[in-house]
This record gives sequence, C-alpha cells and structure tokens, in this order.
Amino acid sequence: MWSNIIGQGRVKHILRSAMQHGKLPGAYLFSGPAGTGKDAAAIELAKALNCVNASGDSFEACDECPSCTAIANFASPALEFIHVLPKKSDDEGAELKEDDVAIVREQRAAKAADPYYHIEIPRATAIHIAQVRELRLSMARSIAGANRRVIIISEADKMNDQSQNAFLKTLEEPHADTLIVLTSSNPNALLPTVRSRTQDVRFDVLSVEEIRKALMDRESLTEADADFLARLAAGRYTRARDMMGEDVKQMRTEIVGFLRMGLSKSRRKAQIEIDRFLPRSGGKFLEKRQVVEQRLALLALWLRDALALATHAEREVINRDQMEDLAKFVSRLGEPRRIIAALAAVDRAMHRVRLQLQLRSVMMQLIVELEEALLS
Ligand SMILES: [Zn+2]
Repeated sequence: MWSNIIGQGRVKHILRSAMQHGKLPGAYLFSGPAGTGKDAAAIELAKALNCVNASGDSFEACDECPSCTAIANFASPALEFIHVLPKKSDDEGAELKEDDVAIVREQRAAKAADPYYHIEIPRATAIHIAQVRELRLSMARSIAGANRRVIIISEADKMNDQSQNAFLKTLEEPHADTLIVLTSSNPNALLPTVRSRTQDVRFDVLSVEEIRKALMDRESLTEADADFLARLAAGRYTRARDMMGEDVKQMRTEIVGFLRMGLSKSRRKAQIEIDRFLPRSGGKFLEKRQVVEQRLALLALWLRDALALATHAEREVINRDQMEDLAKFVSRLGEPRRIIAALAAVDRAMHRVRLQLQLRSVMMQLIVELEEALLS
C-alpha cells in the first residue's frame, strides 16, 4: 500500500484512515527527521485524494491516470508545492533573476521525478512573505477538475515569523476543498499559533531493513552495499543515497585514523586527522555538519563491529573487510565495557553536532572522551 513511500506504516495508516472516514483536517504538519519521506508522503496524499481511479475503499493513487500523472509532474492545479527561494530583492514586485528561474525549474523537475530528492537552490534560505501572499491569492481562485487542492509547504520552518504570521491568516480561513500540508524537520521553529492550527503527524526514522530494501529496489545496489549504507544512514533514506556517490571506505580510513591518534594520546595528530575531513575555513556549514555526521556514523559502526567481535558475535560484523584491524583493536582493548563507553561518547558527539556550531570542538571533545573510555 502506498508503495512509493518507504516504510512509515503508522503514518500511512493514519492518512488512509483519515481519508476513509472523511476526517481530513484543514492542515497537517508532517514532522520528523529529514530524509524520512515527509514531502514524498504529502505528494502521495495529493495523488490519492485526486486519483480518478481511486474508488470505494482503495484510498490509493493509481499512478497512471491523468490526475496522478499531472500531480507527480508538478503540473496539476491540484498541487501547489512551495519551498525556499532566493530573495528577489527588497522590492516586493521584483522577479527572480533569470539564472535563478532556470535553477528553480530544474530543481522542481528533480523533485517531481523523485519525491525523496532534496531541493537545493543557491542562496535560497527562506520561504518569503511574498510567497505566502501569492499563495493566499491563488487559493482564492477556484480550480476546475480537481477533487481537492493540496498545498505543500516544504520545510515550513523556513518561514520567518513575519511570513508565519501572514500564513496564519490562510490557516484561519479553511477552504473545504483545500488541504494544507506543512512539512518540517524542525517543527519547534514554527510559531505555537501556527502549530496549534495543524494536526501533527510524526514521521519515524526508517529501519535499516527498510532503507536496505529501498536501496536494492530503487537504486539496484547489491545487498552488501545496500546493507552497509543503510547502517550508516541513521534512519534517513536520503542520507544513504547521498553516500552512494562517495568514497565511504576512504571516509572510514580517516575516522579510524582519528580514533587511532586518540589512542596514541596525540592530540596534535588527532587534530591533523580532523583537518583532513573538516577544512578550517570555507565551505557551507550544513555540508560540513553532514561530513562530520557521516564520519561519526562510520566510527560508531566500526566500534559496534569491535563490540560484536569482543562479545563473540562475529557474524554481526558489517565492516567485513576490516576483520584483521578490528581483531587487533579488540585484543588491545579487551573489555567490552570500554567499547560500550566509547560508543556512548560517539553518541554524545552526534547529539552535540546537531546542537552546536563548533564542529571542530565537538571532535576534540570526542577525542578526550574516547581516551577516557578506551584507556582508563
Ligand atoms: Zn490515479
């Protein structure tokens, strides 16, 4: 059911049963971690609500009728997909620059082709008040041929307070034929007044099994490759897919090198290892954070393998090409409790990376904690 959506059985059940009982709210808030399919589910819901072939109790998009096809291509008046855009200029009536228009068009096409795609537009950091005003105008116009108009505000938390306040007016005047879906991985950035007018549907992180299967089915990866990436993805399908094009084994070498330097109690050398993957200046913060998160996930995976070896659960080892190194590591450190403490330190670092801007100091604190965990 709803086979375009990976996992999220609970969410699918909520949405289908709301359709079945005619209990759709005026506005949903799809919240939960990035890369778990919030936009994809919102688009699928728009298709299901307007599908010509959805009859009786199917509540499912056929993916073949003109309505499904048009919505999937972002070419239907029944779907409005709103996302961050570059700021035009302070002049309200300004148009987007021509280059930006081309990029926006290309990015929207990529999202239409793959609802799990994350739209990236240079300098696009906000959903602007002008977009909110345009939306209000377009909602006032009736549309022909659609069962229910669905408006998706992707990454709704990118509306600043001013935009959210303007948007509040839209939320306060519900249109019977319109469903609004806000999606957000940071719902706390939404004003309480906005949140209170939406029905929250929480999305879960995906299981290793769900991501592995999706990578095999959709990206034709081998089971071994899919399994490795699924375990690194921290429950986010898009993250697993982002790593497909990267040299994950090289990343692993770097982070295990960092661990080794820590164990040799050389802070300076550990810093050099950090420099290899985290440039001191330049680069976008979000990209750097992702780099660090990927390294930490690889480190956690490596330590979990060490723990598996130390507890005679060799069959569970994922980094099978690292057996020899892992065995050496385990024989040097011995006790599982040390590895467990090290894993806890990596967990804390992952948490800090989400809260803190100083990625380098997160990594330096990690090396101190790893020393304490492994050498005490
Ligand atoms: Zn259809």
